[in-house]
Amino acid sequence: MSVVEDFQAETEKLAATVQRQVLVLYAAHVAGELTDLDTAALIAAAINKATSVAVGLGDAWLVAQIEDVTGVATLAAGVGPTDDSDRLLKAASTVLAEPADAAMRLDRLARSETFEAAQNGTWQAMQQQPLIEGWVRQFDADPCQLCRWWSRDGRVWPKAHPFQRHKGCNCQPRIVLAENIKSTGYTRRLERTA
Ligand SMILES: [Zn+2]
Repeated sequence: MSVVEDFQAETEKLAATVQRQVLVLYAAHVAGELTDLDTAALIAAAINKATSVAVGLGDAWLVAQIEDVTGVATLAAGVGPTDDSDRLLKAASTVLAEPADAAMRLDRLARSETFEAAQNGTWQAMQQQPLIEGWVRQFDADPCQLCRWWSRDGRVWPKAHPFQRHKGCNCQPRIVLAENIKSTGYTRRLERTA
């Protein structure tokens, strides 16, 4: 597996964990153990926690990508998590107010928010990593037609180009280093084998 695929496996694991937490909370709500208000607050808190972890994962795995390509030790950008608790509370309350398919919608919310936070963390960290020139879209396990279109057959996008995504998409950027940096890495390897 490539470094990006390892990262995608981590975000998948994180999403699965928070999806389970959210469904347990919803089941307690259905069983009458939690009020609407408490359920929405606990669900929002669980997802908010997962998204802050996801941002950190994005930053850390970006470092792993740089180190994998250059062989040079790199520091994380230190991207801070955003606090989305108000927005998530509103989203969870909206779902609970309309109980049709609520479990499925909460499940999707938890999953989608986790992946989006990981993508945002990676993208923001990328802006602060001078070795990176751009990125290529690395598909998730089951890329849809939209994601294939956004990839433009593996086109290299400048790093400031926004990472296009849809809900539930776990595609992630695979980094491309600046030309001069790449040749520096190449030169270094030549020196090592000489
Ligand atoms: Zn897709």
